[in-house]
Amino acid sequence: MARPGAHAVNPAMQPTSERVDTRPGARADRFAQVALDVPIAPWFDYRVPASLAGVIGAGNWVVVPWGRQRRVGLVIALAATSTLSEDKLRDVSALISDAPASPPSWLALARFAAGYYHRHLGEVLLPAVPKLLRTPPSPRARGSAFERARHRVDALIAPAASSPPAPAPAPAPPPPLTSAQATVLRELEAADGFRVHLLHGVTGSGKTEVYLRWINGLLAVDPNAQVLMLVPEIALTPQLAQRVRARFADEPVAVLHSGLAEGERAAWWLAAAERRARIVIGTRLAVLTPMPGLAGIVVDEEHDPSFKQQEGVHYSARDLAVMAGQLNDVPVLLGSATPSAETWLAARRGRYAMLSLPHRASGVEPPRLHLVPLHQRAPDHGLSEPALTAARETLARGEQVLVFLNRRGFAPVLACASCGWLSRCEHCAAYRVLHRVDPLAELLRRAARGDQASTRRPTRYRLICHHCAAEQAVPRACPECGSIDLGPLGRGTQRLEEALVAAFPEARVARLDRDVARRRGAAQQVLDAVHAGEVDLLVGTQMLAKGHDFQRLALVVVVDADSGLYAADFRAPERLFATLTQVAGRAGRAMAGARVIVQTRYPDHPLFASLLAHDFPGFADRLLEERQEAGLPPFRHQALLRAEAVSIEDAIGFLAQAHAVFPADAPAQVQCFDPVPMPLARVAGKSRAQLLVESTARPALHRVLDAWLEALDAIPSRARWQLEVDPIEI
Ligand SMILES: [Zn+2]
Ligand SMILES: [Zn+2]
Repeated sequence: MARPGAHAVNPAMQPTSERVDTRPGARADRFAQVALDVPIAPWFDYRVPASLAGVIGAGNWVVVPWGRQRRVGLVIALAATSTLSEDKLRDVSALISDAPASPPSWLALARFAAGYYHRHLGEVLLPAVPKLLRTPPSPRARGSAFERARHRVDALIAPAASSPPAPAPAPAPPPPLTSAQATVLRELEAADGFRVHLLHGVTGSGKTEVYLRWINGLLAVDPNAQVLMLVPEIALTPQLAQRVRARFADEPVAVLHSGLAEGERAAWWLAAAERRARIVIGTRLAVLTPMPGLAGIVVDEEHDPSFKQQEGVHYSARDLAVMAGQLNDVPVLLGSATPSAETWLAARRGRYAMLSLPHRASGVEPPRLHLVPLHQRAPDHGLSEPALTAARETLARGEQVLVFLNRRGFAPVLACASCGWLSRCEHCAAYRVLHRVDPLAELLRRAARGDQASTRRPTRYRLICHHCAAEQAVPRACPECGSIDLGPLGRGTQRLEEALVAAFPEARVARLDRDVARRRGAAQQVLDAVHAGEVDLLVGTQMLAKGHDFQRLALVVVVDADSGLYAADFRAPERLFATLTQVAGRAGRAMAGARVIVQTRYPDHPLFASLLAHDFPGFADRLLEERQEAGLPPFRHQALLRAEAVSIEDAIGFLAQAHAVFPADAPAQVQCFDPVPMPLARVAGKSRAQLLVESTARPALHRVLDAWLEALDAIPSRARWQLEVDPIEI
């Protein structure tokens, strides 16, 4: 077996060396080369039946037979000949005639991505199309999927298009620009054609207002123009989408993310493809949306790791956005308070234009940061004496406190005090995390299972693996020594919340993390309560760090800033700086005198000096120097070959063979390292290993990878493997 998703090859598709019909004068459109979401070939040949001759063309959507099934694919070219023999060729079943035209720049972007990430075109293109639209029509369906999606678009955008003139109050006028914003906007508007701009703006500096003004200008000069805006998180999309919709009341705004119901996603995708929506806001998957009028692209929080697709083709939506800008010859705006090392280097070298907003738009001073060195074990609530005092003072003034801990659950591990047993996961090289269970949720879960024992009191805790999701009841006694002296080790957000409720009995405490957000609408409920002033003390993870504009938040406490300081991944400090900057940026958006307290065991770490001085450029420049000295990205280009198998021997064995067939004629600047187990070496019963390839030059790397992949396909192995270009975790 080879790449994930590969399956037995349909014999009818097996390329052979036979050529059919090479007679002169053979029709140039006898065969259609069709891209399908199948990892085994770049395209598949089908005969064009007489009924479709002269009708079908490149960029058309078609239904084709595939084994005993049918699939939707995209015609990438017509040809007079095929490498398949006549008896193995099958006919195109149908043309989906009401699909939108495929913009050439969209196909070009997909071709680029397929080449760059070393995957087939269909694997890039088709997963980016909403499922409803790439499902072969059933013979009984009334109308096509595109037709149904089109009706849905009518319904979605009808209110905007046909509402009677202004019965509603006129929207509030946009806030006046600061002089820094005005300068940035002037520079953006002077750009013509492809140019990448980095907008480096501190938190609260009004980057979004710049985006909105710029978009407004782009749409105003050309009635056919469309703008794409990429954002990292689904949780953030509603607020931003609301703000964009409020500003552009006459424009349908398409919103695209994986959390949408299929019908809605299909409708908005079609609205973008047919230019009925001129503004498209979406998460990473939106970058591969066909937009025939594309006139500009915004990537907000461009440093965010969630722009990297982690399944299927591992593309970077930020990088593809830059390429889309180049292919469409339109400007691209990357915004961040803490740009990625890649983007910062490009801006420092002048390849990207550097624009900056160094001050908060409100004119309010940024919050003051304090480091609190942790010398001994912190109490259960995790707050040092200075943090406790600050929290008390803040609450007494009727202001809000945010306590940040990027670890969900009650405690990261359960331990036996007698023998040292730890709650390891039997399927993964990781510990099962102790979670407090909401008693009501537990009763419902039991009822759903038809559990006869549901009269028993619900268990209050469970052990859950965050990697394979395996769950178990908490053992009454140590499985090793029988001792009942079992207790939690360390602390997660649930334990923190419990301890803070005890420490501040008067305060209204709320928590927000992925466990809370699992229930539909729950995250929004918590955020609404914070905005309404119904929460005094907010506990949470990274989910709280992003974009929220809490007006009464006067104190942020970072309980433990140390996890990223000495991590194995060289990107950990970059991420830590970004996270701390974002969390700190939530404080005092609208009020002076806000404070941020960062607790650490390593107060002398240089990262904190830059953080305290609000000096991202200093931090980033030093980071680049270190990366250059160590020969790391963005000064080297990397590809990672990952293999997983039941046994680590099979995984490493495959990589050893891969190492052996690494092209002997590879230039010296391309290096292939030895296979090693991955940092998390076992997940869900599969052992995982990796092998790194590095190069000082990109073109050389890609040439070598092309040759290497052919050799890899021929290695017989039980391991599943995948090549990732520009990995962000090593
Ligand atoms: Zn024990
Ligand atoms: Zn596990």
